[in-house]
Amino acid sequence: MSLTGDYDDQNVFAKILRGEAPAIKIFEDDVVIAFMDIFPQSPGHCLVVPREPARNLLDLSPETASAAIQRVQRLARAVETALQPDGLVVTQFNGAPAGQTVFHIHFHIIPRWADKSLGRHGDGQADTDELKSQAERIRAALI
Ligand code: AMP
Repeated sequence: MSLTGDYDDQNVFAKILRGEAPAIKIFEDDVVIAFMDIFPQSPGHCLVVPREPARNLLDLSPETASAAIQRVQRLARAVETALQPDGLVVTQFNGAPAGQTVFHIHFHIIPRWADKSLGRHGDGQADTDELKSQAERIRAALI
């Protein structure tokens, strides 16, 4: 499969964007929706998903790429305030060999603590109440 290609609107993030699948949302606006990753690599792992139907960064319009990274920065700052991690990883995968599993463009924000190792990508579903509590704390820290 080519790295760029047809967008399949049956992916889970497209369903979340259409309100057909649930998500623990942090915020949304006209450009993105941000919600908790339900298989977090670390407590507070969240995702920023542009509304534009693009498979990956290569397919995304420059306008949305630019607007989305501003939302990523805003959310990263809120995660830092809310959860006080020692570090923050921002990742974005393009194509299955690069680690992409959901083929709708998205950015990961993954808090890191010096004494905690990272969980495996997409490993184990987190407790919903815990995710809701983290989302609430992050939302409260958004400026
Ligand atoms: P990637 O491997 O970059 O495509 O990342 C997809 C991410 O989406 C993984 O970290 C999954 O844990 C996460 N994920 C998959 N399904 C859902 C869902 N329904 N709600 C929230 N996160 C999800």
